[in-house]
Amino acid sequence: MEPMLKLHNWIDGRPQAPAEGSHLDVFEPATGKVFAHCPASTATDVESAVQAASRASMGWANTRPEDRAGCLMRLADLIEAELDALAELESQDNGKPVALARELDIPRAVSNLRFFAAAVTQWPSEAHLTSTETLNVTLRQPIGVVGCISPWNLPLYLFTWKIAPALAAGNAVVAKPSEITPCTAARLAELSNAAGFPPGVLNIVHGEGAAVGQAIVEHPKVKAISFTGSTRTGASIASSAAPMFKKLSLEMGGKNPAIVFADFEFNDANLATIVRSGFANQGEICLCGSRLLVQRSILAEFRERYLAAVKALRVGDPRDPGTQQGALVSKPHFDKVMSAIATAREEGGTLACGGHALNLSGRCADGWFIEPTVIEGLGPDSQTNQQEIFGPVVSLIPFDDEEDAIRIANHSDYGLAASLWTSNLKRAHRLAARLEFGIVWINCWLSRDLRTPFGGVKNSGLGREGGVDALRFFTEARNVCIQSG
Ligand code: NAD
Repeated sequence: MEPMLKLHNWIDGRPQAPAEGSHLDVFEPATGKVFAHCPASTATDVESAVQAASRASMGWANTRPEDRAGCLMRLADLIEAELDALAELESQDNGKPVALARELDIPRAVSNLRFFAAAVTQWPSEAHLTSTETLNVTLRQPIGVVGCISPWNLPLYLFTWKIAPALAAGNAVVAKPSEITPCTAARLAELSNAAGFPPGVLNIVHGEGAAVGQAIVEHPKVKAISFTGSTRTGASIASSAAPMFKKLSLEMGGKNPAIVFADFEFNDANLATIVRSGFANQGEICLCGSRLLVQRSILAEFRERYLAAVKALRVGDPRDPGTQQGALVSKPHFDKVMSAIATAREEGGTLACGGHALNLSGRCADGWFIEPTVIEGLGPDSQTNQQEIFGPVVSLIPFDDEEDAIRIANHSDYGLAASLWTSNLKRAHRLAARLEFGIVWINCWLSRDLRTPFGGVKNSGLGREGGVDALRFFTEARNVCIQSG
């Protein structure tokens, strides 16, 4: 039996037990068993973290960008040195295949830290020569204490995507990872001292959203909130933070279309990417294409090849190197996805494949596994095609022509990402301009350049992350007008 992992808050550069001494169970999704305990912190712990951050913020703000970059680079190196162990921990915590965590989550966390370390040292200042006597300079100064709140689906990946630009820009951070997947963030905290971060610059408070997240959002000394999670939580955060005039960046849910045109030339590799775009990470990526729009003239042929590829996905123990789809993150989330599949059937949808819980044997007998599921026969208005399911469930929707595809794709309250599969470059440009999404991938999916703006429109997001957008978010711009003579 593996020993129980006990996590701590990280406040003022050291591990601290939660003030009230309570802990939450952390489950391994593949086994359904508790393997860790995470602090069930309260507003008292958030207060300690904010006080520590406030004490540290001025000193950190006054460091040179090179020094802050040095800390981030060293943290990246320390994480990279533990890549295998962190990938195993991420998989145990989240249910994703270890192979995926090793290939995607942990390397991307390393890249996030290195990217913002480099970015802040290369960030040009802006100056405008208004006349021969007047020069306007834009100072971009750290905000002070900022809050970073992240979800469970890509735990360390999204946690570092927020704290890296916040720290690079010179802010002190109070961060809260998801209470469902807190383990890798807790390990990152332990590495932060060796990386050289002064005490209080990075504080991590674990616990439930309603207790810890809300206390961070409502704290008057926390001047900006960067949040990734569900649209419902985003709305609740906005309702508290907006009247306090905090800066807000909200990355929220999606119901993304993948649109396949008859002119697209298929091969096994691009078909595999289309399958991955629906099912990677058990479909628990905000960018997954859960609405698969296929031009009617190729529907029969495409459907046959697509379903064969989906049925061939290997669902199993996340530790097994051959596993392509692991367990869903929690029992409540498993129940939510199963109930969405039941709704699809009640609405008149049919199951082209999957649709059932998978009972594995041995170690994983009590894990939360669901077959890769493809639903068909439902119109764009159906609940199945309107609500985010966030699981291994794709709905197949035929369309007639370009106008029809645009109409169906845009018929959503969400607007995070669309992917488009076509060999017609003119069509690709036309659609890229008319699809109401923050990201449009053409003949690819999840291809990311960290310099690009990342975020959604409509109910998917407010603001942009990535590159200079993130550094701008985590700073206040001040116009300094200098008159000579
Ligand atoms: P969630 O909204 O339940 O939780 C996200 C985080 O917010 C967690 O740390 C949680 O504890 C915290 N939280 C909950 N209530 C809070 C409150 N009242 N105040 C402050 N914080 C609170 O989301 P989730 O279930 O963890 O994540 C899944 C969702 O995240 C999906 O909707 C998915 O689409 C979305 N997501 C979006 C992106 C993106 O970039 N747009 C990326 C990943 C996930």
